[in-house]
Amino acid sequence: MIDKEKIEVIVWDVDGTLYKSDATIHHVFEEVRRKLLEKYWQRPYEGELKNLFLEFKERYKSTTQTLAVLTGLSLSEVTEKVESRLRKERHLSTDPRLVRMFRRFSYLTHLALRNGGREETLHILEQLGLNEVRVDDHYQLGPFLKVWGSIDDFYLTKPCPGVFDRVKLWIYKNLFYQPGEKVTSQTIDQIAAQVLMVGDKPEVDLKPAKEVGFQTALAWSDLPSSKLPDYVDVALPTVYDLERVLDLRARLGKPGSV
Ligand SMILES: [Mg+2]
Repeated sequence: MIDKEKIEVIVWDVDGTLYKSDATIHHVFEEVRRKLLEKYWQRPYEGELKNLFLEFKERYKSTTQTLAVLTGLSLSEVTEKVESRLRKERHLSTDPRLVRMFRRFSYLTHLALRNGGREETLHILEQLGLNEVRVDDHYQLGPFLKVWGSIDDFYLTKPCPGVFDRVKLWIYKNLFYQPGEKVTSQTIDQIAAQVLMVGDKPEVDLKPAKEVGFQTALAWSDLPSSKLPDYVDVALPTVYDLERVLDLRARLGKPGSV
């Protein structure tokens, strides 16, 4: 169950969350994966290579991380190969509904956290029209105070705990910390429940987010609450439903308003 009253910060996954990945995107991912593995191992992907990929994917969850491990490439090299293909195939345009939602969410602080490069992440957010949501000149893009491309910024990918620890500490230091305040893991942990992570991949976005104490929302999911993993606080049939979930709870919190 989500505790709406506490939420002050939202950390947004990007791909598959702020826009729905279509079949073409999935196809491109698969094609790049197949080519990289076939080139490195000099054998067809179908069969043992595919099984090897699936086995390691189970361990690392992130496709980028899995491909880097299985091909000896760096995370940046894998990312560049995937991004350069996706850049041509991803046809995004301004999403007025999304833009409207972010305008209404102006009372919250927004951060974006994508597994990929920083420039590409900014480019995607711009294509969705979110740069139109002006907040303040020192914001990195539109409503986002900070935009992380995990490969460039952390040399890591979600679901690595290192990514979520960094995000939590950044939030604490930049949004909650008062100069002179005693810094302990307890004081840092106290702010965690004020952060909501919204993502489309439970094990990549939400499990590690819950492990650092964030609240969690699964985007584009119709699963009833009885079927949700215990680290997911709420399922959103569409990403736009977050507005309804947060507003509804706001109204329910006010006596006489229901
Ligand atoms: Mg995603």
